[in-house]
Amino acid sequence: MSPGMRLSRGLAAVVVVAAFLAGCQGTPPPSGAGPSGAGTQLTVVATTTVFADMVKNVGGDLVAVTSLVPRGGDVHTFEPKPADIQAVAGAKVLFMNGLGLDDWLERTITNAAASGTPLIRLGVDLPGVTLLPGESPDTQNPHLWMNVKYAELYADRIAAALKAADGAHAVQYEAQVAAYKQRLDALDASVQQRIATIPAANRKLVMFHDAFPYYARAYGITIVGVAVEAPGQDPNAAYTAQLITAIKDSGVKVIFSENQFPTKLVDQLASETGATVVSNLFDDALGDQVASYEAVINWDTDRLVEALK
Ligand SMILES: [Zn+2]
Repeated sequence: MSPGMRLSRGLAAVVVVAAFLAGCQGTPPPSGAGPSGAGTQLTVVATTTVFADMVKNVGGDLVAVTSLVPRGGDVHTFEPKPADIQAVAGAKVLFMNGLGLDDWLERTITNAAASGTPLIRLGVDLPGVTLLPGESPDTQNPHLWMNVKYAELYADRIAAALKAADGAHAVQYEAQVAAYKQRLDALDASVQQRIATIPAANRKLVMFHDAFPYYARAYGITIVGVAVEAPGQDPNAAYTAQLITAIKDSGVKVIFSENQFPTKLVDQLASETGATVVSNLFDDALGDQVASYEAVINWDTDRLVEALK
């Protein structure tokens, strides 16, 4: 694309946004997104509360970060609203995961950002990540951050983006990301230790959606199956029947689901297999019990140990 094309596209986007914003006067901007309250902080937008928390840890008081998907929301089926477009339009850096998790950001609101606003895809082509068996970069599961070591790679990428956008504070970002990664290192070791207390034969489970393959591989758990292949899509009867057989054959005792999803399907799986349901895990979003990414990993690990021990 020539620079000229880029400019005209950018101008067109500005016109579209201006027209759009004119049509939604009276909608208050999300907290932290507008000029008021942001002060001299770098205004940053992330697609989810989990990534926003990581950005806050790396950026500290230098950044004002907003998440588009709210706490307890479902990133897979999220539809941006006018206030989200306003938040994106005011951002100096945008963070998303990519790999199919939150591609609605690119499809629907990238044009709202000022021309040249960096859009950081935290999970895409991330050096140091090993694909799961059978995966290619095109079919890669997006939930890389559930392996704490991969979350450290996200932190590195966040730090690089913040330094590029706000070079005057590079030293501070470097110190903050180093401190954050040190905590994540300790968290990773703690998860290893806690999961190791589960008898090996019990370290297998069924999940509602496929958010745990990197966690499972990192910490020595087997995922026997998932209730839905994609959130928002009901599985067909043949798929569910196969899963029920797999649960019975493998002797899986517990089916785990997340706070943000309905439990009807996992309740059905439980009643047909005799497994129990633990329906308060977190992965894609923070929630009332878990106010940070670190709390998510701690909470889930405790729930797994409690249920499988
Ligand atoms: Zn997910």
